[in-house]
Amino acid sequence: MLQPQDTAVTTLGPCTIPSPLRLGRQPEAGVPPFVSDTARVRFRVECDPACPAEPDVFFEKAGPRERLFFDPRRVRAAIVTCGGLCPGLNNVIRSAFLELHYNYGVPEVLGLRYGYAGLNPAVAEPPLRLTPELVDTIHEEGGTVLGTSRGPQPVEVMVDFLASRGIDLLLCVGGDGTLRGARSIAEEVLRRGLKIAVVGVPKTIDNDVMYVERTFGMQTAVDKAREVLDAAHNEAKSAYNGVGLVKVMGRDAGFIAAMATLASQEVNFTLIPEVPLVLDGPRGFLETLRRRLIARHHAVVVVAEGVGRELLAGEPVETDASGNPKPPDIGPFLKNRIVQHMRKYGVPVDVKYFDPSYLIRSVPANSDDAIFCDALARHAVHAAMAGKTNVVVGLWNGVFTLVPIPLAVSGKKHVDPAGPLWKSVLACTGQPPGWT
Ligand code: ATP
Ligand code: MG
Repeated sequence: MLQPQDTAVTTLGPCTIPSPLRLGRQPEAGVPPFVSDTARVRFRVECDPACPAEPDVFFEKAGPRERLFFDPRRVRAAIVTCGGLCPGLNNVIRSAFLELHYNYGVPEVLGLRYGYAGLNPAVAEPPLRLTPELVDTIHEEGGTVLGTSRGPQPVEVMVDFLASRGIDLLLCVGGDGTLRGARSIAEEVLRRGLKIAVVGVPKTIDNDVMYVERTFGMQTAVDKAREVLDAAHNEAKSAYNGVGLVKVMGRDAGFIAAMATLASQEVNFTLIPEVPLVLDGPRGFLETLRRRLIARHHAVVVVAEGVGRELLAGEPVETDASGNPKPPDIGPFLKNRIVQHMRKYGVPVDVKYFDPSYLIRSVPANSDDAIFCDALARHAVHAAMAGKTNVVVGLWNGVFTLVPIPLAVSGKKHVDPAGPLWKSVLACTGQPPGWT
């Protein structure tokens, strides 16, 4: 259970420099205020007097502080993007730069190239010096203008690099691996007694970061996945016993599959890693699909990439450059099993398989994510200028928060099969709650 001390944010030291931002002091009327360092966001908004009392846990509220740790006129900042692509990376780079440059007056912001490789001089491309011209239109493009990579770099080398380049604050934009890397850097910095703030912006299209209710890119992914589901529905309906089978991202968590299902309203079966998939038996997925085809002559199935690891247990597991296991491909496997099963029962079937993963990852952010990325990036800058470190910008109960990185990477967030999201999916697909 989460304890109050788990959410305590590390700072580099006392904040004595007045902020150059033109904001009001609370409770000055009519001017957006600075956020007090003691402002908090409650972990649980719901309560039940009948249940045993839990300790009150709060997150530190994110936002611009009136006093800063760093003197902005002397700051050198750096931004790095790591891991897989996700819509909104360029928006985060752009807004972080613009906040540092125009609002804080920071003279130099570097864009480190190709992920953490950019902090290892043995392999690094030289950093880009960011300018308003360079970032001008980057938010209109997908991908990351800085480049990205996977694969580890020695933490001592990366901290040597930051120290030798005089970098005071490092913004790390990436997923769980990136945040683990950021934690190692922040801890090594503290061990050496250096004053470098390391702040993360959580990027995971899967939305699986703990204690962060939303990560950027997911809404865009849901938009794109929904388009594919609608196409799959048209294909399925236009064929006799047509099945539109769509694989979406979600190695450990089925948020994209679940939310795209709700957005599309055309899905009949949503398969997510949190609900074990059973193919065979009278109440298994294949027989349920067969009954659906006999009754309605078409079906749309969405499967998250992390589904069915137990079914694919015999298949070889590859790993990517960062050492993450790449699950065997559930999509073609499921397609084959559907075809074999229907053949066995003499039911004609026409399966159209869609795998839009790379198409989805590389598109520009939609409006909702663009707005979200802008806020996340500016909050990351505010946190770093106030000397917060080993921390990630989160959102909790609709308020931007600061979450210690060790807490954010302590596990993965999942769709709760007993929660409201999954309940809505079951209501909208009509599928059974489980496959046994
Ligand atoms: P995503 O999974 O969304 O694509 P990610 O940030 O998890 O993003 P990874 O490739 O796993 O992507 O990691 C990004 C970078 O972080 C890589 O350079 C990787 O080596 C580094 N990294 C991963 N785990 C650690 C760790 N425990 N300590 C230090 N660095 C790490
Ligand atoms: Mg990852």
